[in-house]
Amino acid sequence: MMSIGEQTATWCREAVARALDLVYPAECALCRVPLDHGCALCGECAADLPSLREPFCPTCGLAFDGAVDRAIDCPNCAKSSLRFEFARPAMTRDPRTLDLIHRLKYGREIHLADPLAGLAMRAFDDPRLARALELRWPLVPVPLHRSKLRQRHFNQAAEIARGLSKRTGLPLIAALARTRRTDTQTMLGRGARMTNLKGAFDLTRSGRRGLETARDGAILIDDVLTTGSTLDECAKVLRKAGVRTVVALTVMRG
Ligand SMILES: [Zn+2]
Ligand SMILES: [Zn+2]
Repeated sequence: MMSIGEQTATWCREAVARALDLVYPAECALCRVPLDHGCALCGECAADLPSLREPFCPTCGLAFDGAVDRAIDCPNCAKSSLRFEFARPAMTRDPRTLDLIHRLKYGREIHLADPLAGLAMRAFDDPRLARALELRWPLVPVPLHRSKLRQRHFNQAAEIARGLSKRTGLPLIAALARTRRTDTQTMLGRGARMTNLKGAFDLTRSGRRGLETARDGAILIDDVLTTGSTLDECAKVLRKAGVRTVVALTVMRG
């Protein structure tokens, strides 16, 4: 027997689902084929989107063409010392995957967060993430500054992390806050990005509490990895908080 509170919660969820059906018709976000309730990407489109495959840079996931028989000399991270162990994008760059990410971020199509989390799950095929699953490392989304959050209403990285947490059972900790509004990074080169981000992140109260029992490691979550400077700056804060190994997982390599 459901309590009044549970009945209200169920009713609310159903009402929201009905409202979403009106706003987002039940069709594939890419090919528009009609879908069963609750999906946003058809099986064929999902299977067709390219996952990141070897060979790729083990540190930043930059894909290399053809066979590579010696150590990969990555132009992105060869000369830099990063605070995260490695970043593992699930998907290689593709205009359709990027379109889904842009529609989530800039078009506020929040129903796309869950299928994007489904795509991000492919990163767990990487054996280097087995320890994280086994020891239940927390998922830590890259935060947005509160002014950006007000504008967008949600943090896409947190929404993707929520979908990953649902699928893996790994805890989700909003351990980081963006304390400083930074200029948009899109037009900046690597060096300028790093200077722009210095000191932009801090540990939250729930981060301080949650990370006390997560000393072994944590997984930073973001939508796209471009140069890795944002993830690097976030990793610095987590490492300073006592987390031994920080890795990163993103939906796509930019
Ligand atoms: Zn489709
Ligand atoms: Zn690299």
